[in-house]
Amino acid sequence: MIVVMKPGATTAEISAVIQRAEQMGCAVHPIYGESRTVVALVGDLTGVTREVFDAMPGVSQTMRIQEPYKLASRTARPDNTIIELEGGVRIGGPEIIVMAGPCSVENRDQIIEIAKAVKAAGGKVLRGGAFKPRTSPYDFQGLGEKGLQYLAEAREITGLPIITEVMTVEAVPMVAEYSDILQIGARNMQNYGLLQAVGKVTRPVMLKRGISGMIKELLMCAEYIVSGGNAKVMLCERGIRTYETATRNTFDLNAIPVLKETSHLPVIADPSHGTGLRELVPAMSRAAVAAGADALIIEVHPDPDKAMSDGRQSLTLEEFATLMGSLRRVAAAVDRFIDDAPTGEPAQAVKMAELIAA
Ligand code: PEP
Ligand code: MN
Repeated sequence: MIVVMKPGATTAEISAVIQRAEQMGCAVHPIYGESRTVVALVGDLTGVTREVFDAMPGVSQTMRIQEPYKLASRTARPDNTIIELEGGVRIGGPEIIVMAGPCSVENRDQIIEIAKAVKAAGGKVLRGGAFKPRTSPYDFQGLGEKGLQYLAEAREITGLPIITEVMTVEAVPMVAEYSDILQIGARNMQNYGLLQAVGKVTRPVMLKRGISGMIKELLMCAEYIVSGGNAKVMLCERGIRTYETATRNTFDLNAIPVLKETSHLPVIADPSHGTGLRELVPAMSRAAVAAGADALIIEVHPDPDKAMSDGRQSLTLEEFATLMGSLRRVAAAVDRFIDDAPTGEPAQAVKMAELIAA
């Protein structure tokens, strides 16, 4: 159930509603939106009637939330959730945030070179895997904590916040110490122990859709994290498994407007894993922006053919800079924008050269 407060409701009126709900044994999640405050009541609501709250001062109306994902639902919070990172990057607002970096952190020089190029092209967040979920146990598993240290150093040099995957409950405190955003990978979407663990940290979480995950399952998994106490969750479409073999996964563009309509959480698109093929990444990046994604996460590598993972789907640094130019135009066409970096390839090339030389 949600209790919608009147636009001018006082702190005392909001507190009274929260107190009343707690007395009745509900788990209470106040949601402070721009236009109004909503108090979401979850848990066992047997015996909790709407009339109790309808009569309280400052209350506009009470509603039952039909969706099983109560806190992630747009009914609970009509305003978009905006997640702010240290350094002022805001995900979920009018600016489309581009996150980019290698699939895996391979060594110090590699991640620093990439970080500089990502920044020069207008990327706002650096990605890079230090703990890699590989299909084969014989493949490169990532550099572990060393990789996190290299990412932190790249952040220090460029100022870009970082996102990296956490695969186990035990690693959550360590990854949360280094990283600005915790990524839950597709293979772990329904790892409920891990979802509960990231529900207890203060870092934002990007939850990737499972390889065979339905949209409503993704939303239920987000609900685990939000109801666990961490409201800073982003939902990521990264392609699903279908009968189609022309691409690595089938990038489900539909999921973007579906998620935007049903949830207030920011929606991120991953066209790299969504397609598995470098030449398709620009088209699907533009499509994702046009479809309403709040951010993109893109794999890039200075020499993709030599990458230790996912080289086939990684853009070169130059391809990435070129893509940013066309993304700005698509963003403008849907009344959004991508950073304030100078547009046009010459300006970008100069900026990139300056940063790399620094
Ligand atoms: C990744 O981001 O490199 C990754 C492993 O993604 P996913 O979990 O979507 O396969
Ligand atoms: Mn990858």
